Amino acid sequence: MKKELVLKLLIVFVTFALATVAGVAFHEHRHFKETVVVSEDFTEMRWLSDYCPQLKDTFADTPIFVFDSGVEGGSVLYCGGTHPYEPAPALSAFVLMENIKVEKGVVYVIPQCNYSATTMGVQGNAYPSYYTVKTEWGEKQYKIGERNTNPLDQWPDNFTYIHYPSKQAQAYNDLRNLNRCYPGRLDGTLTERVAWAITEFIDKEEIDLSIDCHEASIMYPVVSTYIAHDRAMDIAMMAAMDLTATSFDMKIEQSPKSLRGFTHREWGDYTDTLGVLMETAEPFIDRIVGPMTVDLMMTGQDRFLSYAGDKGLTYAKYDKENNYSWPMNVRVGRHLSGASKVIYYMNQFFPEKEVIASWPSYEELVEHDCGAFLHNPETSNPDRVFSF
Ligand SMILES: [Zn+2]
Repeated sequence: MKKELVLKLLIVFVTFALATVAGVAFHEHRHFKETVVVSEDFTEMRWLSDYCPQLKDTFADTPIFVFDSGVEGGSVLYCGGTHPYEPAPALSAFVLMENIKVEKGVVYVIPQCNYSATTMGVQGNAYPSYYTVKTEWGEKQYKIGERNTNPLDQWPDNFTYIHYPSKQAQAYNDLRNLNRCYPGRLDGTLTERVAWAITEFIDKEEIDLSIDCHEASIMYPVVSTYIAHDRAMDIAMMAAMDLTATSFDMKIEQSPKSLRGFTHREWGDYTDTLGVLMETAEPFIDRIVGPMTVDLMMTGQDRFLSYAGDKGLTYAKYDKENNYSWPMNVRVGRHLSGASKVIYYMNQFFPEKEVIASWPSYEELVEHDCGAFLHNPETSNPDRVFSF
């Protein structure tokens, strides 16, 4: 009898110990803040709740960084973190903000569009919670989030999700997927409200070109691709051809009219902006990879995927020539040059919308790695350091 009691107490103790360790890790991730040192061309920081007060003091509120040249011209929005388990877009936004120079027009950056989804790891998978970037002055830590809004902020999931306003039936859990909820609605779920706020922001600020950055598994056909709204097809097609001829392979797809809720469709349909989505390659989220480690996130190297690569089963290059890898600096660089190129062609096609802005290019990222473009918050002007 006594032995049984001791065993039961031991089980209770071990359970509580494990729950405590996990609870501390979950709490830390929920409240972890990323830091950026914005460039000297920074003008002001706004919040998404400035455009939708209902988001204030929620985990869905997220900063918008403004880089205004003061010279009349067009405007561009650069978005990371629509799906925070694809971290290269957010990191590219950080590299962009730390180095941007604007000579004409205004550039807006939302580094983490679905902030709530950054506050947890991927459910049901043993994913790492963070990754670090090496710099000359030390290591900088960033989050790996979830694909969808944190259930602590929006729960339970409905059995069905009917997209508003098209009434198209979607997968039930896509009601927490920001890139299925556009154009959004103010009195909908939290994710629909975030979508509404971003659409409202684009509309109110009359943003000429809006770019949404993503990553895709390399066995998914729409990888290394621009997906453009009908009105943005000309500029994205020119950018894809130009990049493929001069820098790296880039495909182009037209946003399907029957696929609802996406940025590349609804931003263009519900506002006057030119909507473009970009996908780079993230082997970490492929179905057949081995252990999902920080190393895999940063290098993209995986033995199982290399078999598929050799057999030509991947939609992004994965062979000896690229060392069976898709490192973070290559993915960040592709987004940065991908954005520069569509802006360049917007300027060519629509001179009245001209934006002249520069940041590190694909070639520079490949040569120097991401850390070379990040500044030390400890030694920088505190007015230009932001944690969120
Ligand atoms: Zn995505």
